[in-house]
Amino acid sequence: MNVYLDNSATTKLDERVFEKMKPFMRDEYGNASAIHSMGQRNHLVLIKAKEDIAKILHCDKDNIIFTAGATESNNMIIKGVMVGNRKKGKHILVSSIEHPSVLKPAEQLKAEGFDVELIPVNSAGIVDLEKIKKMVRPDTILISVMAVNNEIGTIQPVEKIGAFAKKNGILFHVDAVQAVPYLNIDIKKWNADFLSLSAHKFYGPKGIGLAYINRKVNVHPVIAGGGQEYGLRGGTYNIPGIVGMVEALKLAYAERDSYIRKVTELKNHLWGRIQKEIDDVYINGDTINRTPNNLNLRIERIEGEAILMDLSVKGVYVSTGSACSAENLRASGVLKAIGLKGELLNSNIRMTLGRFNTKEEMDYTVDCLKDTVKRLRSFTPITKAYGA
Ligand code: PMP
Repeated sequence: MNVYLDNSATTKLDERVFEKMKPFMRDEYGNASAIHSMGQRNHLVLIKAKEDIAKILHCDKDNIIFTAGATESNNMIIKGVMVGNRKKGKHILVSSIEHPSVLKPAEQLKAEGFDVELIPVNSAGIVDLEKIKKMVRPDTILISVMAVNNEIGTIQPVEKIGAFAKKNGILFHVDAVQAVPYLNIDIKKWNADFLSLSAHKFYGPKGIGLAYINRKVNVHPVIAGGGQEYGLRGGTYNIPGIVGMVEALKLAYAERDSYIRKVTELKNHLWGRIQKEIDDVYINGDTINRTPNNLNLRIERIEGEAILMDLSVKGVYVSTGSACSAENLRASGVLKAIGLKGELLNSNIRMTLGRFNTKEEMDYTVDCLKDTVKRLRSFTPITKAYGA
């Protein structure tokens, strides 16, 4: 049996989404910027896509820009906003548990003389608004806080932070990549000036995402080119990707209730059995204020990578921390930020459930994990006393 439990890294393309994309990959290939009718047909598809997305995200369609994914959106927003407003101020606040596609551009800004400060999180992995209130300055331009953390699934108080930012004339960015469909994304209610999404996190295709950009703000274009997307992002429109992203987003919210119910039941079954049948296993991050798909576990006295490899041989696919750090097996910055230390930083795995998982898969996973943990603990030089 193969069990895919890495849905926060990416998801399987939904067949219904693929069917919608097919005509645009094969027959309707006109450039949406072209003046002839093949181009104009696709231009209309582009406009309709923005209208449909704006309805779901509660925002103005003219502020939606398509990108190649959230990494690009986050770079565009973090760098573009700070560079475009450098005369007004140099201070940016970024939460300490952001994805590298926010943290790295912020580091680059630091090297160019901007003042970048990291907002700490509590031991449950939640950003505290009171900390932000103490950190803001008259020259603070932007606050960036993600809606849902990709490693531990914790939900951040973005609505409260947005209200505070608005009241104080500070721009606000939300990386909402892991929020679909768990949160009702409401750009207006959240007072977000900027927001990022990637389609492949919700059963859409890879290589397409979006940036919501408050176009009243001066944003320096990171990708300059042929003037597409109001001059903010050059490059030929990816119509098959855009069609796929819209369909995936529509399905995600149309099927939201049954999806969340299913994932919650599966997660409860999985965690219920793990808790009963394996010793010294704990959940990292807030146990309530998190999305139901995420089980980030600390399995003491074993290395996370060893567990991952052993499970992989058995056909169970999990991750340690985020997939993006697999090339670089350093301890997770998120787990450090919530206060894990020493051996405990290296004994974690992330299981993220999704649309296509089944109860049988959860049972197979627990059976495999029990076997893996028993075997690996029999070799470990780390004693229980050390781990505890
Ligand atoms: N932000 C978050 C919270 C993510 O989880 C990811 C993907 N791991 C990204 C941004 C980047 O998305 P992509 O790799 O699709 O560009």
